Amino acid sequence: MSISRRNLFAASAGLAAAAALPVSRNAGAAVPPAHTEIPGVIRRKVGKIEVTALLDGYMEMPAALFSAPYEEAARLARAQFQAPTPRLSPVNAFLINLGDRLVLIDTGAADLFGATLGKLPRALAAAGVRPDQIDAIVLSHMHPDHVGGAIDEHGKPVFANAELIVSEADLVYWHDDAALSQAPTAFKPFFASARAVAKAYANRRTTFSGETELLGALRSVPLPGHTPGHTGFTVSSEGATLLIWADVVHHATFQFAHPEWGPAFDVDSALAGSSRKRAFDQAVHDGLMVTGMHLPFPGFGHVAEESDSYRFVAAEWPYDL
Ligand SMILES: [Zn+2]
Repeated sequence: MSISRRNLFAASAGLAAAAALPVSRNAGAAVPPAHTEIPGVIRRKVGKIEVTALLDGYMEMPAALFSAPYEEAARLARAQFQAPTPRLSPVNAFLINLGDRLVLIDTGAADLFGATLGKLPRALAAAGVRPDQIDAIVLSHMHPDHVGGAIDEHGKPVFANAELIVSEADLVYWHDDAALSQAPTAFKPFFASARAVAKAYANRRTTFSGETELLGALRSVPLPGHTPGHTGFTVSSEGATLLIWADVVHHATFQFAHPEWGPAFDVDSALAGSSRKRAFDQAVHDGLMVTGMHLPFPGFGHVAEESDSYRFVAAEWPYDL
């Protein structure tokens, strides 16, 4: 039987009338709003490997940060039932249980980008993991929202037993004084946080370059441009593969429709754009599940191709634990 819109409204009106009937006042206690956040933690399986998305929080990513005409940005926002401004983007990190090792990909922003971030420690605790249980931190790149959580306010390692694994190209770039002096003033502090983290883990640091096996089922996928060593990662097990593409997308509302739009803090925007296009095309071609550090938490989903752009299709809630 099909329910016409009119019938549905009539049915709703009936429900409303029913709700207005007097009911026992002892049906339940009034519960005030909690005004507290619940840690963001969602797990799913990739073959035999458990991947846990951890939400560090949200940061402002206004349309003006993108090389985006305001009218088109506003149109896209309206189409997604979002206000054109301010634009918020999540910051995600990922815990990978490889079976023999526990790996954290990126560490959140800690206090470097304000009070809406720095929730990763609570998310990690909610996932049942202590910082000293992490065997390796793998960095997608060395921007503050990815490295900030690796050190405490004294510049000491938060992860007492973790090796730091980072791309050689990023490590070199963030220690390049010429690059620092050429960087826009607003982005100069990015160098200090990258250097502080590299220093804290100096005696247990490993670098990689190109596409390579890092730890068992975890491989690096170079996606340069956002930073010189910006890297995604694949996790593969039993025929299943997840591509964690890091900062290929900073705002899902804009960049699937306009892969050519990049944020102002891309080190090489044209190169970042071609890496984005390559990652989208690979995800479409292989039907890959993807996730990323700024996709709507937990970020798991697929990329669909449109006539002249792309579309993100969020995955259903995982039930395969
Ligand atoms: Zn980022």
